[in-house]
Amino acid sequence: MRPFSHAHTVDDLKTLLLLTTGYNFLHGTYDTIEKAYKNFLINSGSPQLVAVGLSSDQKDCLHAAYEGGAKKYGLNWIPKLRDLPIGSCPMCGNLTLGTVEHYLPKTPFPEFSVFSWNLVPSCSSCNQKRGSKHVNGISQKLLHPIFDSVLLHKLRLVTRFNTSDAVTQFKLGYNESEFDIAEQCRISAHIKMCIDQRAFKLATKVQLSMTAARVANKDECLWRTVIQDELSIMEAANLTYGWGASCLRGLLETNHMPLNMILTPKILE
Ligand SMILES: [Zn+2]
Repeated sequence: MRPFSHAHTVDDLKTLLLLTTGYNFLHGTYDTIEKAYKNFLINSGSPQLVAVGLSSDQKDCLHAAYEGGAKKYGLNWIPKLRDLPIGSCPMCGNLTLGTVEHYLPKTPFPEFSVFSWNLVPSCSSCNQKRGSKHVNGISQKLLHPIFDSVLLHKLRLVTRFNTSDAVTQFKLGYNESEFDIAEQCRISAHIKMCIDQRAFKLATKVQLSMTAARVANKDECLWRTVIQDELSIMEAANLTYGWGASCLRGLLETNHMPLNMILTPKILE
């Protein structure tokens, strides 16, 4: 996961004014939605917020405005979120992007459908995994790429390898010791809710194969240096938060024997 900068040039309240005057069904809703959005900002997008209860016609208008990304409502910035050059998905760390995520889902919370603090670039697999589950009733608040930027700047994903079985197992972890218990609970819940395990496993296998190819002709005593160099290149290329970097950090955390057990089968493949 990674912090993400807000598009400060976006004027959400101007958009709201244009929508509530442009769509007949939304006439008279400006004050209610403005109040709800201010509450959203004060509470950092808490899923415990109560939806304002818009009618299905009003919901349809806001969803249509979101899907259309219309310039006349000042929404042409939304499609551009998909192509932002930020390297990895802010919600899960996948190295692909391509969709836009509603931090508070747009079905239960149509009032926040087009607001900039509720929209973040995302990959399709974690977007689908989360669906509309992130609402009132979940035990932990998901990490928000803007509201939680201080915490996210400290967070480093680390893939943890277990070589005690015949086939190496691995799972996504992070630098736990730098966080207090409450933060650890939140981060763990976020990982559980957002990370598509299939996509993560596939990406890790690809990274392991690439690393194995890099170390294949080198003396084993040089493997760590090769991996460290590869990690440094990734970090310089703005890929610090992705699963590739996470995999390399995990390899550097292992001892000599496990490292050999993880990479040698890949070299032989
Ligand atoms: Zn993702």
